[in-house]
Amino acid sequence: MRPPGARQHRPVHTVLLATRNRHKVGEIRALLGAEHHYLTLADLPGAPALPETGATFAENARQKALALAAWVRAVRPPGVPGPGTPVWVLADDSGLEVDALGGRPGVHSARFAALDTGQPGNSSDADNNAKLRRLLAGVPAAQRRARFRCAVALVPVWPEGGGTVACQLFEGTCEGRIDLAPRGEHGFGYDPLFVPEGMDRTFAELGEAEKNRLSHRARALAHVRDWLAGRQPPPCADAGNRPVH
Ligand code: IMP
Repeated sequence: MRPPGARQHRPVHTVLLATRNRHKVGEIRALLGAEHHYLTLADLPGAPALPETGATFAENARQKALALAAWVRAVRPPGVPGPGTPVWVLADDSGLEVDALGGRPGVHSARFAALDTGQPGNSSDADNNAKLRRLLAGVPAAQRRARFRCAVALVPVWPEGGGTVACQLFEGTCEGRIDLAPRGEHGFGYDPLFVPEGMDRTFAELGEAEKNRLSHRARALAHVRDWLAGRQPPPCADAGNRPVH
């Protein structure tokens, strides 16, 4: 039972997601909790292209989050709550690291195939997967260790006391191996080739719910969820009042 006088605890933050990818937005919402208010780049017409020139996932996530927060602070677009309210920019960067390829494709995961042709923009998943299979042909299965890595940066739009903008970084990985024969219809990117540790199905064979339980993004976002919860007064003693994610 709730103690007399205790109010329902609802840690509500506004989170601006530095992405237009609807798949990612759904995943982030499901993992961080529906109690927060979410906006995406689609809600911020005029938002600038975000830089992504770092050598690591963490640096790219940080660059994107700081740039979007600075723009919101300068422009104050309608729909974004003003100073004094908890508004965060959340940016992520993720990709695949294959040990036998010295960690490639890494931060170039989205345009792995295009690195060879010089074509601008991202490559198709089919082209990226074809290149990965070509580079790993002849490499024994035991040497095809790989992991997905995800870095998430969280930046307050309105820093407390108007002071320095502190960027919080969170990371999650999912270990596994690359299978050369693509399998499965779900997911995106390298999912048909990636077999998470301890399983024999690829990410693309797992449903979204199962992937969300063990993915690199899920692990990074679990840290974000806990951190955001800690930004609020502690929930009251009644377990029934705790936020449900
Ligand atoms: P970004 O984080 O959206 O920039 O993702 C970069 C690239 O990494 C994507 O285009 C995919 O090729 C790859 N990637 C990131 N996360 C996943 C995943 O969960 N499954 C498959 N590929 C992924």
